Amino acid sequence: MSGDNLTNSIGAAQGIEIFEGEGRGPKRPRPPLTIKEAARETPVFAETDVLVVGGGPSGTAAAVAAGRLGAEVMLVERYNHLGGLSTGGLVIWIDRMSDWNGRQVIAGIAHDIFERLPKDAVLGPERADWGSRDAATAAYWSQRTAAYHGIVTWSPTIDPEALKTLSMRMTLEQKVRLTFHAWAVEPIVEDGTMRGAIFESKEGRRAVLAKTVVDTTGDADLLARAGLSFENDIDESDIHHCINTAFLLGGVDMERWLAFRADDAQGFKDFLARGRDQLKTFEKPFVSWRNDVALFMGPRLSGYSAVDVEDLSEVEVRSRLLTVGHVEVYREHAPGFENAFLMLGAPQVGVRHSRRLVGAKKVTRAQWDEGKVWDDEIGVSTSLSPKTPNISVPYGALVPAGIDGVLGAGRHIACDANSHSFLREIPQCWMTGHAAGIAAALSADTGVRPRDLDPLLVQRQLLHQGAYLSPSIEAAVEQASRAAE
Ligand SMILES: Cc1cc2nc3c(=O)[nH]c(=O)nc-3n(C[C@H](O)[C@H](O)[C@H](O)COP(=O)(O)OP(=O)(O)OC[C@H]3O[C@@H](n4cnc5c(N)ncnc54)[C@H](O)[C@@H]3O)c2cc1C
Repeated sequence: MSGDNLTNSIGAAQGIEIFEGEGRGPKRPRPPLTIKEAARETPVFAETDVLVVGGGPSGTAAAVAAGRLGAEVMLVERYNHLGGLSTGGLVIWIDRMSDWNGRQVIAGIAHDIFERLPKDAVLGPERADWGSRDAATAAYWSQRTAAYHGIVTWSPTIDPEALKTLSMRMTLEQKVRLTFHAWAVEPIVEDGTMRGAIFESKEGRRAVLAKTVVDTTGDADLLARAGLSFENDIDESDIHHCINTAFLLGGVDMERWLAFRADDAQGFKDFLARGRDQLKTFEKPFVSWRNDVALFMGPRLSGYSAVDVEDLSEVEVRSRLLTVGHVEVYREHAPGFENAFLMLGAPQVGVRHSRRLVGAKKVTRAQWDEGKVWDDEIGVSTSLSPKTPNISVPYGALVPAGIDGVLGAGRHIACDANSHSFLREIPQCWMTGHAAGIAAALSADTGVRPRDLDPLLVQRQLLHQGAYLSPSIEAAVEQASRAAE
C-alpha cells in the first residue's frame, strides 16, 4: 500500500478528510472580513525584573541564570512543563556539547544539567571517551547518537520526564515564578522599548510588567508581534526547515535492532525499501535512554510554516497517520520491534525553524573556516566537521535590531540559514539562553539597555557560572578583572 493510500485508508476508516498527495494540502479560503474588538482595561498580573517568555531549553537556562544573579524572574509557558522540544517535543537526543578534540565547549548550565540528571536517565559515553578516535569505541557510539566522523562525542540521549523535573527544580531553586498554561500574545511596547507582555490563560487576558524581557518562544513570537522583521530563508540541503511530531515506541529491543542493522546489511536495505514503498516517507529509529524505548524524530515534512495554524494542523494529522503506519511496518518486519507499541506521540509539534532575528550581529557561514572569535563572544558552538574550527557566537546575535528592553535566545537567534542548522540545537539553546538570562538580569539591575551593556560584564558572569569561552576571551576577561582590582 502506498503512503497516501495508507493514510487515506486510515482516514476513511475514521471518517475524516485526509489531505491528498504528498505535499502540503490546498489552503482553505478565509473570509475577507475583519471584526472590531472592544478596547479594554487589562489587569496587571505581576511586576518583575526579568520576564522570560517560553520555557524551552533557552528559556529555562535564561530564567536560572537571571535568578542566580538575584533578579526577580517570572517565566511564562503555554504548556504544563519546562524543556520545550527537549521534553515535550521528545527531542531527547541532545546534540554535541564536546568539540572534535573531546573538550566540552557547551558547558555552564548544560554541564550543570548533566551533573544532576539521574544516571539512569542518560545514555552516553563516559567523559574519558569524548574525542576518542578508537575505531571500535567510535563504531559502538555511532549507532547510539554519540560518534561522528569516527570521533566519539558528548551527545547523549535522555529521559524527557527526568529533564522536566530537573528543569523545574533548577528554576524553583532560583525562586523563578513559574506561570504555566499561559500563552503570551502581545508585547507591551512604549517608545520603542518592550516593557512586558500580555498573556492569555483560563483567567483571561493579563499583563506582566518587566524591566527586561527575554523572548525564548522559539518562534520569536513577542518580537514578531512588536512588528520587527525577520530572516526566514532556508537551506534546502539541510533538514532545518522540516516539521513533524516525534514519537516513542515502547516494548522494543533496541540491542536486537542494532545487531540486525550491523550484521544483516541486505536485510536492513530490504526493510528500508519495504518501508519506503509502503509509507513513502520512512524513518529509522534512534536509541533512547532505555533499551526498550525507540525514538523516532521524523517523519520529516517539508514545505510547511511553523507560524501558520492550518499548516501546523496538517502537520499533526500527517504526523499521526505516518506514526501509525510506522508502528505497523516495524511491528511486522523489524527485528526487535515485534512487541512494539506507540508509547507517546510528542505533546509539542517539532519545529526546527520559523523566524530568525535581525540582530545587532549575526553568525554566518563566512566565519566558519577562519575560526573568527567575536570580541563580544558569549559562547562557542561545536562545528559540523572536524575540518572546521569551533564557532564563536556574539552577544549581538541575541540583541534584536529596532527595539529595546528585550533579548532573544534559542533557535531564533541572529544567524544565516547554514549556521542555523547547528545553532538551533538544544545545547546551543541552553548556551544562548544562559547568556541572555545573565544580560537581562544585568540590564534590569543597572538600567542599561541590553544593546549598551558591556559584553565583558556578561562574559565575566558566564565564566563565573561555569560557561566555556574561547581562551583569548577568557584571558581578556581575566586581564580586565585584574586591572579593575
Ligand atoms: C524533530 C526535531 C528534531 C531535532 N533534533 C535535535 C537533536 O537531535 N538534537 C538537538 O540538540 N536538537 C534537535 N532539534 C532542535 C531542538 O530541539 C530545538 O531547536 C530546541 O529545542 C529549541 O529550543 P528553544 O528553547 O529555542 O525552543 P523550544 O524548545 O521550542 O521551546 C520554546 C518554548 O516556548 C513555549 N512557547 C512558545 N510560544 C509561546 C508563547 N507565545 N507563550 C508562552 N509560551 C510559548 C513553547 O511551549 C516551548 O515550551 C530538533 C528539533 C526537532 C523539531
